[in-house]
Amino acid sequence: MSDKDNRDDGFKELEETLSKSYKSEEIALIDKAYSFASNAHGEQLRYSGKPYISHPVAVALILAQLGMDGASIIAALLHDTVEDTHISIEEVKSAFGDEIASLVDGVTKLGKVPLSTKEEEQAENIRKMLLAMSQDIRVIIIKLADRMHNMRTLSFMEPQKRRDKALETLEIYAPIAHRLGIRTVKEELEDLAIGFLDPIGYQEIEQSLEAQSQSRKEFLEDIKSRIKERIVTIVPDAIVEGRIKRVHGIYRKMYMQNREFNEIYDIYAIRIIVDTEMDCYNCLGFIHDMFHPIPGRFKDYISTPKPNMYQSLHTTVISGGGIPFEVQIRTKEMHRTAEYGIAAHWKYKLGIGGSEQFEKRLAWLLQLIESQ
Ligand code: MN
Repeated sequence: MSDKDNRDDGFKELEETLSKSYKSEEIALIDKAYSFASNAHGEQLRYSGKPYISHPVAVALILAQLGMDGASIIAALLHDTVEDTHISIEEVKSAFGDEIASLVDGVTKLGKVPLSTKEEEQAENIRKMLLAMSQDIRVIIIKLADRMHNMRTLSFMEPQKRRDKALETLEIYAPIAHRLGIRTVKEELEDLAIGFLDPIGYQEIEQSLEAQSQSRKEFLEDIKSRIKERIVTIVPDAIVEGRIKRVHGIYRKMYMQNREFNEIYDIYAIRIIVDTEMDCYNCLGFIHDMFHPIPGRFKDYISTPKPNMYQSLHTTVISGGGIPFEVQIRTKEMHRTAEYGIAAHWKYKLGIGGSEQFEKRLAWLLQLIESQ
C-alpha cells in the first residue's frame, strides 16, 4: 500500500477544500506537514479510538473553511507534535522554518496558560489569552479551531471532564471568538457547550424547534418571497436569507430571561445582503413600510459598529399574522466581517479597505489588552 492509501479520510476532505483556493506550493507543504505529523503521532489514538492524526487534520480543515492562510493550516497539522510526541520545536523549525515553528510554539504555550472558570477571574483569563496572541493572532485562531474539534468529539470523554471543558468553552473560548467577531465559531462553540452542560434543556429546545419545523419553514419562505418581491424593484441584486436562531440564543432567553419557549417569538431572523450602504437604508425603509416595527428594537450598527467591528442594521417587525421577526441588513463586505470576523482578513485579501479595517481591529484588541 502506498503512503497515499494510508491517509486519514479527513485529509481527503481537507485536500479537496484546499484545491479550491490554495496555491500548489502551499498544498505541497501542507502534504509534507501531514506526513510529518502522521509519522510523529504514529500509533497514538484519540479517546474516540480513531488515529490521533484525525484530530490535527480536522483542526486544519476548520481553518481552511475559515479561509486561513497556508502557514496556519500547516501549524494546525503540527500543533500537537511538540506537546504530545518526541518531536522538538527545533525539529519543526528546521523542517518548516521560523514562521511555522513560532505558530506551533505559540499554540503549545497557549495550551499551558492556566485558566480558571471562576467568575471573578474571567477577565484575567481573557487578558492572558489576548496577551499570548498579541504577537500573532493566528495562534488564537488555531487554538479556537483546536477547541472546536475537541468539543465536537467531547462525548468520548468522561462526564466530569466533559462538564469542565464545556464550561471553559462557554466562559473563555466562545467570548474570545465573539471578540474576534468569528460568529460561525462562536455559535458552534456555544451550542456544543450548552448541549453538554444541560443536555435535557438543550434537547427540549431542539424538540420544540423540530415540532413545528414545517410551518416555520413555510412562514420564513413566505416572508422572504414577499420581501424579495418588493425590494427587487429598487435593489435588484439583493440577497434575502431566512433562518431560525441557534439553540444557544433561545436557551439564553429561556433561562436568563426566564421565559417559556412559546413566549420567545423572535426566533426568526431575515437577512438582507446588498451592495452599498445606501441600499441598506433603502431596504430598511421598505421593511418598515411593509411590516410594523417594534419600538426600541431598531439598531444602527452601520454608523456605530460594535467593538468587534460588526456592522448591520437591525430591526424587529411584526408580520401580518402577528409573528415578530428580526431583520438584519448589511453589505457583502459587512457580511464577511459578521461571519468570519478577524479571519476574514486572510480569506478575503481585500486590498486597502480590508487591511485598514484589520488594522483598526488590531488596534482595538491591543487597546483592550492595555486597558485591563
Ligand atoms: Mn489539539
